[in-house]
Amino acid sequence: MEKIGKRFQEKVAIVTASTQGIGFGIAERLGLEGAAVVISSRRQTNVDEAVKKLKNQGIEVMGLVCHVSNAQQRKDLIKNTIQKYGKLDVVVCNAAANPSVDGIVETKEAVLDKLWEINVKASILLLQEAAPHLNKGSSIVFVSSIVGFHPLKGLAMYGVTKTALLGLTKALATEMAPDTRVNCIAPGFVPTYFASILTTDEQVRRSLEEKTLLNRVGTTQDMAAAAAYLASDDASYVTGETLIVAGGMPSRL
Ligand code: NAP
Repeated sequence: MEKIGKRFQEKVAIVTASTQGIGFGIAERLGLEGAAVVISSRRQTNVDEAVKKLKNQGIEVMGLVCHVSNAQQRKDLIKNTIQKYGKLDVVVCNAAANPSVDGIVETKEAVLDKLWEINVKASILLLQEAAPHLNKGSSIVFVSSIVGFHPLKGLAMYGVTKTALLGLTKALATEMAPDTRVNCIAPGFVPTYFASILTTDEQVRRSLEEKTLLNRVGTTQDMAAAAAYLASDDASYVTGETLIVAGGMPSRL
């Protein structure tokens, strides 16, 4: 990584779903900039591996198992963070699922419930746990998606849950001001396990690259840089906003 600052010294950050991909990238960036980071995901082995990678870079890190839809694990995530670090400055809500590629009118009720539960509700419930501990000057970042702005076949209902995060960002920014800022990033396409079509299908990848102005897909570092900006004091006059990080893909005026 090129020059990076130290905007998160003395800060404590929780990033959900952070043992690989965009969440890991965000945790790594915040950690390299001085934050103590608390990472988590569903599987202990993934947590252990990610903690090791971050520690090897000199990052202060604690890793916990937290499936975002598990109430006890959400509670423990906040409790253990406060017990170990005594405070909480940044929460990045990054977990999401896309269990089906069906069109919306064909999507089964159980899938609709799961999409709402993982992509929206679990973040609200985690923030309810976190809220009493959030400092003045604290910051929340949601991870939406470009498909929250422009529906894409196979990602239609998932995209609607990502649109909901844009509204949630506005509503919570209003509710939590002035002490806590609430913002959101909307990534374009980033080759990760979640978007493995980008690594397995050259044609799909190429067609998505062509939709960007910068002629490439995104990297986890691109997303991390944007999330870190919003979480940092550099964005101290920015709240209720969504930053589209999609290489200039068609988005909005
Ligand atoms: P990824 O590389 O597949 O990583 C997903 C991470 O989340 C893993 O660490 C996984 O670890 C964890 N995880 C999955 N389900 C979880 C759950 N229910 N509770 C807690 N942790 C969970 O995914 P990604 O592409 O980085 O996606 C991260 C976020 O970016 C998502 O919100 C996604 O919607 C958004 N996004 C991605 C793209 C893209 O092109 N990649 C584009 C726009 C938006 P375990 O398996 O151990 O749980």
